[in-house]
Amino acid sequence: MLENVKMRAGTGRPHPMSKTERKRHQTILESMEADLAGRLGNRDGIAIEKSADPLDEVQFAGERELAIRGLDRESNMLRRVRAALERLGGGVYGACLRCEEQISPKRLAAAPWSVYCLKCQEAADRHEFEVVEAPDSFLIDVA
Ligand SMILES: [Zn+2]
Repeated sequence: MLENVKMRAGTGRPHPMSKTERKRHQTILESMEADLAGRLGNRDGIAIEKSADPLDEVQFAGERELAIRGLDRESNMLRRVRAALERLGGGVYGACLRCEEQISPKRLAAAPWSVYCLKCQEAADRHEFEVVEAPDSFLIDVA
């Protein structure tokens, strides 16, 4: 499986995305990164609140739980955005990690952190292959 990925990554198909296009995605991703990093830096929202009232305690615990889940989602997103920026730097941005086809511009516009084309994403959603959650390892393979 890994061997396979390495081999295909080595074929290095030239990237058809234009410089302007890449620049545009970079700007979008960088502003997303700044936004997410800023929000993740501010964790006051999950300060542990204490109350003498046990009912309040339950409510606080619920709110904390929600805040933590939100942070989880955002830090996942931040990781994806950063990985996308790395792929931009590495010149492999916009190519599907699985089949190396170009991810459609429409899909990239809607989700600039996408690592799979629609077809592969659908296959991933059906658990047809092991999803690369931290695509940084892909770069290590290429290098
Ligand atoms: Zn694909």
